[in-house]
Amino acid sequence: MNVTEPDGVEGAVVKVVGMTGRIIISILLLLPSLLWGQSALTPEDPPQQRRCGHYEYIEMLTEQDPEFPARRAALEEEMNRWIMENAEIINSESSSVITIPVVVHILYFNHIQNIPHSRVIEQIDRLNKDFRRLNSNLSGIPAAFAHLVADVEFEFCLARRDPQGNWTNGVTRRQVSQPSFTYHDDHIIKSTSQGGQSIWNPARYLNIWVVNLTGGVLGYAQPPGGNATTDGIVIGYRFFGSTGASPPFNHGRTTVHEVGHWFNLIHIWGDDNGACWGSDLVHDTPNQASEFYGCPTFPQMDICTPDSPGVMFMNYMDYVNDDCMMMFTHGQKARMLAALNVFRPGLKNSNGCKPAINVEEIPDLSSLSVFPNPGNGLFRFELIMNTDAEIHLTVVNSLGQTVWDDNLGVRQSVYETIDLQHLAPGFYYLSVSAGGSRTTQKLIIQ
Ligand SMILES: [Zn+2]
Repeated sequence: MNVTEPDGVEGAVVKVVGMTGRIIISILLLLPSLLWGQSALTPEDPPQQRRCGHYEYIEMLTEQDPEFPARRAALEEEMNRWIMENAEIINSESSSVITIPVVVHILYFNHIQNIPHSRVIEQIDRLNKDFRRLNSNLSGIPAAFAHLVADVEFEFCLARRDPQGNWTNGVTRRQVSQPSFTYHDDHIIKSTSQGGQSIWNPARYLNIWVVNLTGGVLGYAQPPGGNATTDGIVIGYRFFGSTGASPPFNHGRTTVHEVGHWFNLIHIWGDDNGACWGSDLVHDTPNQASEFYGCPTFPQMDICTPDSPGVMFMNYMDYVNDDCMMMFTHGQKARMLAALNVFRPGLKNSNGCKPAINVEEIPDLSSLSVFPNPGNGLFRFELIMNTDAEIHLTVVNSLGQTVWDDNLGVRQSVYETIDLQHLAPGFYYLSVSAGGSRTTQKLIIQ
């Protein structure tokens, strides 16, 4: 797969301007479906119900790698042994917090999918709140389950050095030629040579790929025991972070759920198609027949747990809306700690969040994000560089005339709104210069 140039489609449109109106209309109607496929012309509606691709993804991995189930079973035994031998660690909230370095790989087809850095920060913040029992909806947990709520004692940080020791802001970005992906495209998503982005050493980083994931699936994760080149989680960009994400999945809990799978948690109903024999292999979650959707009222009883207080639908590993997910249990914490210690011990000593050793003197402008674009003239401007530098902004019109400029002073990062509402609708170019580096981005004012 090739990486597309962002201006390729606009160029094609310009070339047909001289033809008759009828031809232009026909070509304009055809172009998007020819170049982008139908999904870009009419974006798939956000799912109304949560569905994660974890189970189907495991089936696909098993077809590709028949040894996978045996490795998972062996790991399960090792995890159980670890849990038995480390009851003291599991049962104490010892403030021995483990910090997990995260790299977010954003694969975008268009500017909407190229979500800003601030949304990545929102997502990391959500992980940190939920895995530390600091979520603001904690008070919604029924009293009957309150004693089961765990502080998982995992924290997450955006990587500050890449696998080579170079500076990073924890996010990689790449434009792709495919408007959307499903989990069947996993080999493309996770491979630079195929047009995606190859994994950073999963022994040291939690890799999260953010893509336009379609097919009714919000995200999926590879559990322990899989191939090291694909060991991470994939999240639909519409369900990552909060600002601009698709309700009711706009509070970052798709990622919390998938990180749970990455640490070997199973859906709380045991993936047994409504039966009671399946289990999430956790002792303190009630047996549950099927998933719950939306935002159920408490209590909910089912055929597996017919008595009060019923099932624990507000668990992060059920399928309820983001607002209505509230807790991991102590048993789930034990499984996640076991998965970390048995399968992902390198994360405990990873230096991924220590400042880079090879800091370049030349400012890195690759994180520049200006949105919404097209916009009404009020643009959010975000830039996170590797070093301090004096930042200068210039806006020129299509004739090359400077119509606005501003000096932001010496900074390393900028999160500001720039006001260009006084400019007439049209195309402009924003030029950003900082300490000898320079980059330009097209702006559209509508
Ligand atoms: Zn799931």
